[in-house]
Amino acid sequence: MEKLQNFINGAYCRTKSGKYIDNYDPSTGAVYSLIPDSNAEDVEDAVKAAEVAFPIWSSMSNEERSAILVRVAEGIEKRMEELVKAESKDNGKPLKLAAAVDIPRAVSNFHFFATAILHFASESHHMEGVGINYTLRKPIGIVGCISPWNLPLYLFTWKIAPALAAGNCVIAKPSEITPYTAFLLGQIAKDAGMPDGVLNIIHGSGASAGDTIVKHPKIKAISFTGGTKTGAYIAQTAAPMFKKLSLELGGKNPTIIFDDCNFDDMLKTTLRSSFSNQGQICLCGSRLFVQRGIYERFKTAFTEKVEKIKVSYPTDPEAIMGALVSEPHLNKVLSYIDLAQEEGGKVIAGGKRVHLDAPHDNGYYLRPTVIEGLSFDCRTNQEEIFGPVVTLTPFDTEEEVLQMANSTDYGLAAVVWTNDVKRTHRMAEQLEFGIVWVNSWLVRDLRTPFGGVKSSGVGREGGWEALRFFTEPKNVFVSY
Ligand code: NDP
Repeated sequence: MEKLQNFINGAYCRTKSGKYIDNYDPSTGAVYSLIPDSNAEDVEDAVKAAEVAFPIWSSMSNEERSAILVRVAEGIEKRMEELVKAESKDNGKPLKLAAAVDIPRAVSNFHFFATAILHFASESHHMEGVGINYTLRKPIGIVGCISPWNLPLYLFTWKIAPALAAGNCVIAKPSEITPYTAFLLGQIAKDAGMPDGVLNIIHGSGASAGDTIVKHPKIKAISFTGGTKTGAYIAQTAAPMFKKLSLELGGKNPTIIFDDCNFDDMLKTTLRSSFSNQGQICLCGSRLFVQRGIYERFKTAFTEKVEKIKVSYPTDPEAIMGALVSEPHLNKVLSYIDLAQEEGGKVIAGGKRVHLDAPHDNGYYLRPTVIEGLSFDCRTNQEEIFGPVVTLTPFDTEEEVLQMANSTDYGLAAVVWTNDVKRTHRMAEQLEFGIVWVNSWLVRDLRTPFGGVKSSGVGREGGWEALRFFTEPKNVFVSY
């Protein structure tokens, strides 16, 4: 069976632990490769390599670093088909989704930050007759990037690209559940001419490899995307060491549908915002609030469309949904469907595991699920499920829906469907979320600040925010 390897100091190498973790194909439930169960020695090797590489990488001109990062983007593009297949197999998502979203976005991430760094200017503050302040922005040094399994290469590169563009050396850990495309990225970086030790990719569990990265005294900043509980643990561990932290965490996003919306556009997009990537996108809307005037019409039209969604193995060209990422995750999602019924909810579509024909009969498939009849403050409507499960709740007024939408601990993203201009702005202002989409979903401009409030995270990614995070500002005052 294939054994993946860490990528340290510009070369693939075996883990010093000698131990490996099973890597499952979610579409069949079978183990198909092994990943290194890396330990502190592996992380130490990576840190040593990064220490040597940092003076070389950080003293290169922005143009030189940019050219290498552009070549990484081109390298991903050249291996598009291989990466698409690898992502789909590792994660269970339909092949066509990986081809349309995941890998093209990894290319964009490198292109975007390779060019952004050429335009990144710092501030100056003039004091008339006294002197001038200017701000120098220097790379931090060695930084840690830890990413989750739902959009593997997409989110891995979303962190690595700005960190590298700003002149840092990186120790990166992908999720142990979806390591494969990160494994391939090492060679792509090497082929692009990235100096040895600049990008080091360590595989393994969060509890071992991830924790060691967070605790390492020479790793000065941690950029983390994952669950809120893990984020809290990382914050607790890193804060006494005064590390810079960027935390992108869970969500429980509302989709708010007013009766004056464009019904057809809304219906089409709401199907996507509910079930894309098997509902495993932090930005998916899992609480659908529908104004009473169109509630019954929406419920009928939506459930009809949901029943027609094809759940199938990832290489089926007709698959709209593939497999969930793992058996424990599938069981967690199923347990929430049980909980919803205990809480008085009625499953009006889906709700059941799907067993496909062999060889996919043990894959982790679930019908897209719609539940109604729950109170807005029950556990099902407050806790993150992170699967293809949505709830329907009717509302009458703006005030009522705002209260329900804002009632969770999370505050990542909200969607509003309305054609009333004044209401659009009132809602956008009062929704306690880091991102609000109006009459749309998941339209991304990589320059905009990305992230959540409350338990959905600390800090923002994207554009200048990311480059500011990965640099230390130093103010210099020169007297006249
Ligand atoms: P986890 O928090 O379980 O894991 C995320 C990453 O952290 C993985 O690489 C994991 O490794 C690692 N990790 C786990 N424990 C530790 C630790 N103690 N120290 C250091 N690293 C650790 O999240 P999931 O992978 O389950 O991802 C799903 C979550 O991510 C959802 O809550 C979702 O909302 C959130 N998310 C947020 C986004 C945002 O932008 N706000 C975007 C996408 C997802 P391992 O896999 O080996 O356990």
